[in-house]
Amino acid sequence: IAVPRVLDGNAIAAQIKTEVAAEVVRLEARGIRPGLAAVLVGHVPASEIYVRSKVRTCEELGLYSDLITPPDTVTTEEMLELVATLNAREDIDGILIQLPLPAQVDAKRLLEAVAPEKDVDGFHPVNVGRLQTGQPALAPCTAVGMIEILKRSGVPIAGQNAVILGRSDIVGKPTAVLLLQENATVTICHSRTRDLASFTRNADILVAAIGRPGFVTPEMIKPGATILDVGINRITVREEFDKYFAGDKHREEMFLLKGSTIVGDVHPDTFKLAGAYTPVPGGVGKLTIAMLMANTVRAAKLRRGIVD
Ligand code: NDP
Repeated sequence: IAVPRVLDGNAIAAQIKTEVAAEVVRLEARGIRPGLAAVLVGHVPASEIYVRSKVRTCEELGLYSDLITPPDTVTTEEMLELVATLNAREDIDGILIQLPLPAQVDAKRLLEAVAPEKDVDGFHPVNVGRLQTGQPALAPCTAVGMIEILKRSGVPIAGQNAVILGRSDIVGKPTAVLLLQENATVTICHSRTRDLASFTRNADILVAAIGRPGFVTPEMIKPGATILDVGINRITVREEFDKYFAGDKHREEMFLLKGSTIVGDVHPDTFKLAGAYTPVPGGVGKLTIAMLMANTVRAAKLRRGIVD
């Protein structure tokens, strides 16, 4: 049996970041410094980690960044005012509103208030529509990241059967649109799909984005398939750990040290049958911030009418 290839998210993200940094230098020579505004409401620990990491990456790559931290009592009106200010600011090319937002804030209204040309998360209906109709658009970072992984790893997409588990607006749906654009034959499965395995077993490329630990098991895949595991599920209980990682000494050490580990939506045993796969951690997740940086630079150029 052939050894499955690990699609190394760290390495691909590093490559993209190097390219983004080089582009920032080129823009600097024209007097342009791409800027990202990161809006972090309140004190959700996971959100704080993500946003800090986004701001740090901006600094590493030479982008300007502005971290704005409204209190968790902020109102929708106050957030709309903030977004209007950011929309108007010349030094800001990308606006990122970290989710989740507190319940009193109307997230939908807010995301629709972001100027589409600064919508680096690609969530605005205008960008969704542009993407869908093949026009230049800012597309959701995790979805574009997966296309980058496939392309840069030389995994063929055109003519392949791509099956996506999950139909969220931020991952499943945009991934389907992008794979379709690359000429894959795309199937989207969700919680109401009957006989899921009959679809997944037909997948040359399987994207798992459902948020269920270890959901995809070996009998569900076609041997040799490429598996992109988007899931990020935290495990804190020993019995859970053993269900996924029994015998994995390195994981076990880390688990005992930290008291938790992350498992994807794919059971690790499944990867043994794959042709290639993204590990968790160190796979798809690593691309998300790199693509946010790439989107910010792209937004800076699109807004100024700069084409490559
Ligand atoms: P959502 O909860 O928004 O969507 C989950 C989707 O999975 C839904 O479409 C749901 O179906 C479907 N689903 C749930 N259970 C099943 C099931 N048993 N069988 C088939 N389909 C099912 O999740 P997200 O898309 O936001 O995230 C998915 C996962 O990816 C999470 O683990 C999240 O943490 C991770 N993630 C990782 C990112 C990264 O950078 N790596 C970025 C974003 C998310 P239905 O629509 O019918 O309810």
